[in-house]
Amino acid sequence: MSTIADNIAQVRSRIRAAEQAAQRTGQSVHLLAVSKTKPAQALREAYAAGVRDFGENYLQEALGKQAELTDLPLIWHFIGPIQSNKTRAIAEHFDWVHSVDRLKIAQRLSEQRPAGLPPLNICIQVNVSGEASKSGCTPADLPALAAAIGALPNLKLRGLMAIPEPTEDRAAQDAAFAAVQRLQASLDLPLDTLSMGMSHDLESAIAQGATWVRIGTALFGARDYSAG
Ligand SMILES: *Cc1c(COP(=O)(O)O)cnc(C)c1O
Repeated sequence: MSTIADNIAQVRSRIRAAEQAAQRTGQSVHLLAVSKTKPAQALREAYAAGVRDFGENYLQEALGKQAELTDLPLIWHFIGPIQSNKTRAIAEHFDWVHSVDRLKIAQRLSEQRPAGLPPLNICIQVNVSGEASKSGCTPADLPALAAAIGALPNLKLRGLMAIPEPTEDRAAQDAAFAAVQRLQASLDLPLDTLSMGMSHDLESAIAQGATWVRIGTALFGARDYSAG
């Protein structure tokens, strides 16, 4: 069985190889370790292997791990669907939110971001797979949403996030990620972030301009939801 440290080394070399294949300079792609369903000890092991950024989908689970890991200087990214009644805790306990897809949520995050903390980094989740996915704003709604979020005081709009319909077909992966990159470029805003690519499609995402890849399974192994 491979350890988390071995897995991290393997993923880092996949990222490097994809950067080189795309003729992108080294270090332009950041690794977000997606630790949902995994215990705090797994995050400690990843930290020991140099990982600082962790992505969580479920608020209560994330808050529990944060309380166990206060001794480590971790950077927390919220990447799951957001209900209105969760925004205050997210605004208080995270550094990034990748999954904003409507203005009401962004307004609440801005209002509820505590004074004294830096602006909350935001990615707008965009749905480039149409009916296949319910999360994410439509490409048609994106320009107005981005302009409105960009004007909120306690948020820093960084870019876009997408989860295309899963496929092993490289051409289909490339087409979906390229569409996200085009949408980003079509916005007349100073954005520096494309959060796209997971364990099975990070090579395609990096070829199409990803700056964050969100990797769970390839680092921590398969998730077991039955354990609760
Ligand atoms: C679970 C999850 C990931 C990680 O997926 P893997 O296939 O395990 O790498 C990435 N992004 C989001 C939004 C997720 O929910």
